Amino acid sequence: MSPIEFTPAAAGQDGNLLTVTGLSKAFGENVVLKSIDLSIKPGQVTALIGPSGSGKTTVLRCLNGLETPDGGIVSVTGGPSVDFGGKVHARDLSDLRDQSAMVFQHYNLFPHMTVLQNVIEGPIQVKKMRRADAIRDAESLLARVGLADKKDQYPFELSGGQQQRVGIVRALALKPALLLFDEPTSALDPELVGEVLGVIKELADEQWTMMIVTHELAFAREVADEVVFMDGGVVVERGHPDTVLRNPRQKRTQRFVQRLL
Ligand code: ADP
Repeated sequence: MSPIEFTPAAAGQDGNLLTVTGLSKAFGENVVLKSIDLSIKPGQVTALIGPSGSGKTTVLRCLNGLETPDGGIVSVTGGPSVDFGGKVHARDLSDLRDQSAMVFQHYNLFPHMTVLQNVIEGPIQVKKMRRADAIRDAESLLARVGLADKKDQYPFELSGGQQQRVGIVRALALKPALLLFDEPTSALDPELVGEVLGVIKELADEQWTMMIVTHELAFAREVADEVVFMDGGVVVERGHPDTVLRNPRQKRTQRFVQRLL
């Protein structure tokens, strides 16, 4: 079990933790998200797959407040519902941001801070946790991913796999309703991929709610409850991993999975 207090978020009337309707985003002339609908139930793992440039990372960044969508409604049960088509209040946006935590492809650890400082920074600054409590949680989480003895080291002293495990711990320490993973293993040497996927698998077993952008289709099949295939800024197909990855209905999905599986 997770060493930190973790209560799975409650589902709304529709059974969802997160509901996204009509999410749209353009960068200048480049329309990247063309009215995306998504939903995720508490404890569910969704794998977001699709060719490079299809908009997967932008979806995560919109959910985490790193990009502001041009339109669409993002609702978290028990949290805010933000309609990006209208006037967005800063308070709602910040509430929405607090619902999720992101694990980045390139770890994005603060290079001038030790492992422990990296992990406690968010809980203390954002969650206003007491320093002693943040340290207790951080040490317990680091021990859990096998990094107890690295807490006073700096990121550059760690392997990529270790850095990414710190990245995961840093996200967990915020106790978010939703964990977002942006290609968490694609920057790693092949021999380090397994240790990171292993941690993510454990989190799935513990019923964390997660959305994972990944090219690891075998992993997606093993861990995901739902696979969403995106191409050209739209959701082409979504469903059970066995269907989407083994017997996709859409031609575009068929071509994509045939190349990667
Ligand atoms: P994926 O994660 O599926 O590879 P992305 O969401 O990263 O796709 O990118 C989708 C499209 O949006 C790409 O054409 C990319 O160049 C563009 N894009 C992403 N972020 C930005 C940005 N900050 N400024 C301009 N264009 C961007």
